Amino acid sequence: MTVFLPWFGHFGDLVRDVLPWLWARYRPGDVIGGNPAHAALYPAPPDARLWEQIAAFYPDGFDYRRRSDDLEVELRSVASRLWPDATLVAWQADGEDYPKPALALPTPYPVDVVVATRAKPYADAKNAWPWSDLVTGLRSRGWSVGLAGSIGESHAIDSDAAAWDLEEPGDAISGTLRLLRGARIVVTLDSGIGHLASLVDAPQLVLYDRRGDERRELPIRDGIPTRMRFGDMHRWNRNLCLPIFGGVDETIAAVDEALTRTRVVPGDPEAWKARHVSEVPGSEPGETLVMRSEYRSLVMRPSGNELIDACPIEEPVSAGPLPADDAVRSDRISICTACDRWSGDRCTAAGCPCAMLGRSDLASSRCPIGKW
Ligand code: SF4
Repeated sequence: MTVFLPWFGHFGDLVRDVLPWLWARYRPGDVIGGNPAHAALYPAPPDARLWEQIAAFYPDGFDYRRRSDDLEVELRSVASRLWPDATLVAWQADGEDYPKPALALPTPYPVDVVVATRAKPYADAKNAWPWSDLVTGLRSRGWSVGLAGSIGESHAIDSDAAAWDLEEPGDAISGTLRLLRGARIVVTLDSGIGHLASLVDAPQLVLYDRRGDERRELPIRDGIPTRMRFGDMHRWNRNLCLPIFGGVDETIAAVDEALTRTRVVPGDPEAWKARHVSEVPGSEPGETLVMRSEYRSLVMRPSGNELIDACPIEEPVSAGPLPADDAVRSDRISICTACDRWSGDRCTAAGCPCAMLGRSDLASSRCPIGKW
C-alpha cells in the first residue's frame, strides 16, 4: 500500500504537476493526502488526518514565505504512525509528462465569462490586477460573469455567480469546476485556475502584461523569477487557449472576439500560416478562426494571421533577484551564525530553494522564522 503525502505548495503546481503524477500511480487501497475540500480533484477522497497539520500551519492558505521542512517531517511521522507498513511517497519533479487526470466532472453551470479574481495573502505582482473594473465592464456589455476560486483567496466583486455559492460545506472546488465547464470563455492569470481550465478543456484566455511574457520567467513574487506556464495550459487544452496582453480594455476586446466571432477549426498551423482566413473551407466573412497544434495556435483574422508559439523561451530573459547590499548581508550573517537553525553554512529552516528564504545574499529574501 502506498500513502501519497499531501502537496502543500502552490495550487497551480498541484494541478499541473502533482495530480497527474498521483493519478498515474494511484491504486485502489492506497491512501491520498490532500485537502479534503478538493476531493473532486483526486481519484479517491483524501484522508483528512494528513491535512490537519497543513491547515494549522497555513490557516489563510499556502504562503510560500512560510515553507518549512519541519512540516514534511511531521507529515511523514503522522503517516508512519497511522500506516506503519505503507510506502510513503511525496511528489518530486521527475521530468515525466503524465496524462491529464480523468476527473469525474460535475454538472456545468452556464455563464458567459468566468474570471478568477486571485488575491494571495502575500505580496505578489498578480494581486494587483483590476478585476473589479473588468467584471464591471463585462457585465455592462450584457455578459454574465462567474467568479472561480475560493472565497478566501479572491477579491470580493459583484457578479452573477460565485464558485463558493455553488458548493456544499466542506467542498471548495466543485463550484469552480462547474463554472469552468459551463463557461463560454474563461479569463485568468497564469495561475492554478488557469491550469484547471485547461484540464477541463474550457475555452480560455490567459492574461499577461506584455507579449512574450507568457513564455518567460517573470519576477512576480518579491522579485523572484518565476517561469510562466502558458505552454503547459496550451498543451493540455484541446479547445481555444490564447494569451492576451494588456489591461481591462484589451481583455474586454479579446472576450468580445472570442464570444462573438471566433471558432476553433481543424487544420495545421504550419500549413495555413501564410494563407488568408477566407481560404479556409466553411469560413464566414468577419470570422476569426483558430487552428491548433500541441505547441502552436494560428489565429486567422480578416486583417491577417497571428502565429502563437506556446513553447517557453529557454534562455532566462529577466534579471535575477537583486543582491543584498554589504551592510544588510553582514547583519543577516551575524544573526544566522548565532541561530540554532544554521548548519553547514546554510539555513536548515528555509525549505524549498524555490522560496529563496534564508538567503543573506538576496535583497528580497527573508528569514523563514522572522529573525530578519
Ligand atoms: S535565516 Fe533565520 S532561521 Fe535561518 S539560520 Fe538565519 S536566522 Fe536562523
